[in-house]
Amino acid sequence: MTGATNTSLLIGLTGGIGSGKSTVAAYFEKLGASYVDADIVAREVVAPGSACLAAIKTKFGDSIIQADGQLNRAALRQLIFQDPSAKQWLESLLHPVIRQHMLQQLTSSQTAYTLLVAPLLLENGLNKLVQRVVVIDVTEETQLLRATQRDSNSPEQIKAIMAAQYSRQQRLALADDVIDNNGTTEELLQQVAHLHEKYLELSGKIRHKEQ
Ligand code: ADP
Repeated sequence: MTGATNTSLLIGLTGGIGSGKSTVAAYFEKLGASYVDADIVAREVVAPGSACLAAIKTKFGDSIIQADGQLNRAALRQLIFQDPSAKQWLESLLHPVIRQHMLQQLTSSQTAYTLLVAPLLLENGLNKLVQRVVVIDVTEETQLLRATQRDSNSPEQIKAIMAAQYSRQQRLALADDVIDNNGTTEELLQQVAHLHEKYLELSGKIRHKEQ
């Protein structure tokens, strides 16, 4: 782990779109853990008034800002899809700021362990910020079904997102713990409860070592 200074055990929680990250994070929270959501942090850093939003406006012009002052995400997505150098510019602007905000939030956590929930945890190297990685594993069929049922996205859109993310095998190869979410929500809850006990025990050991 780099940079974090608190004694909370940090756990990265990842899985593809529709694998169950939000569901699992909510279960952990119910049991007393806290979490930082990478998607929320990514939105926070470009909020109206932020330095990142000002830099994006300077680079791409006023049309990238909506009438309400928010970033026009769809326009930006389209822009960087067409222009790899713009994508690179944007990533080098945002990624360090996102990491810094995540670290700040993770280190200010007061719970015994804290989760960093990120769909691209492994793809973006965010696993370097945490001590353990838990991967939610589901078959591609289940992923596609649950993601299309949840969102208004078409199966093609979900498939395109899945293609841009790691495969099950790539994720599993980097996992310390695995949650199998091919079953019922009851089975999911049991696995989360089991991991919660494990993380409490591990966090106790870390605290003990540091005293
Ligand atoms: P993610 O955050 O990884 O994209 P979600 O937690 O939003 O995934 O789960 C995707 C959808 O699948 C949601 O509608 C959720 O309620 C549902 N879901 C998650 N786990 C299960 C399960 N074990 N059985 C049935 N539906 C599930």
